[in-house]
Amino acid sequence: MNGNRAASRSLRKIKELVLDTRGLNAVPKWFHLRRALRFPIKVGIETSSLCNLKCIMCPNPHLTRRKGNLDFALYRKIVDEVTQHPVEGIILCNYGEPLLNPAIFDMVRYAKDRGIREVRFNSNGTLLDEEAAERLIASGLDAISISMEGAREETYQRIRVNAKYQVVTENLRRLMALKGQRRLAKPRVVLQTIRMRDNLEELDVLCRDWQPVVDEVQITNFVNFSTMGGRVPDRRVDPVPQKRCPCLFLWERMTIFSDGRVPFCGCDADCSVAVGDVNDQSLQDIWRGEGFQAARAAHQRGDYASLPLCADCPDWSRRRVWFLRH
Ligand code: SF4
Ligand code: SF4
Repeated sequence: MNGNRAASRSLRKIKELVLDTRGLNAVPKWFHLRRALRFPIKVGIETSSLCNLKCIMCPNPHLTRRKGNLDFALYRKIVDEVTQHPVEGIILCNYGEPLLNPAIFDMVRYAKDRGIREVRFNSNGTLLDEEAAERLIASGLDAISISMEGAREETYQRIRVNAKYQVVTENLRRLMALKGQRRLAKPRVVLQTIRMRDNLEELDVLCRDWQPVVDEVQITNFVNFSTMGGRVPDRRVDPVPQKRCPCLFLWERMTIFSDGRVPFCGCDADCSVAVGDVNDQSLQDIWRGEGFQAARAAHQRGDYASLPLCADCPDWSRRRVWFLRH
């Protein structure tokens, strides 16, 4: 009985939180979050924290934590637990290039064989040669987002340092051609670009050039990337709204780093505050554990300053995404 009362108090609090921050549009979100109280709705699994690029807006080149590939046995443990819950999907990346993990194709296959609804990842596209494209198609991957900031070679290579525009565009076109020849719907190929000061003037051309080629062009605001407490320059175009509100990341998603540690937010690129470790804890225990609860409570109180990571983080603000379909 007490347990039920506590649960309903908790649900009421979340409901108030959502309605406070999002107004009537939040009602569907409320049902979504109610489910999230038991287990994250989205799980990010960093299959690799290694990367072959040094993009100007990314914390990866500045990471001080040990970089490496996620161990397959640990991955299996994570996926096996995820399959016991109604998770929307898993995203097999965070700060790193998934195709640098040689086991990535088997990882995708494993998750699909266990019935995970949506398995996707983001890639810089540099390593997506013909063999990788064939293996990805065979793995059962649902979607892949290839990053492409800049419609011109010069802009792209200035932002995506160490990448070659010609190689990535060729890889992307080949993947689409392979899908087309076999009339495959999957993997859904999304060309993703971060809207920031450095590429603002080229976005129209980028959409015009790529919409006829890929399945979807997605433009996201720079706020999706952390500034790592100012270590990565803030390249946002739009100002962050003045009135701050709790950050929904804390209620809907968990990110697991390549070494198994779990930060309370995936934006904590260096895992400065680990709230758990899947090497010796279940995801559910971590999700309901003290670390996550304390962070959520601080946000609900409006006490952002007590969490150094959140104090100056602009990423809480509502993300705007335009889906440009053809
Ligand atoms: S944005 Fe992606 S490709 Fe670029 S450095 Fe970061 S992890 Fe690597
Ligand atoms: S405010 Fe920033 S650091 Fe804090 S939980 Fe949200 S996205 Fe993460």
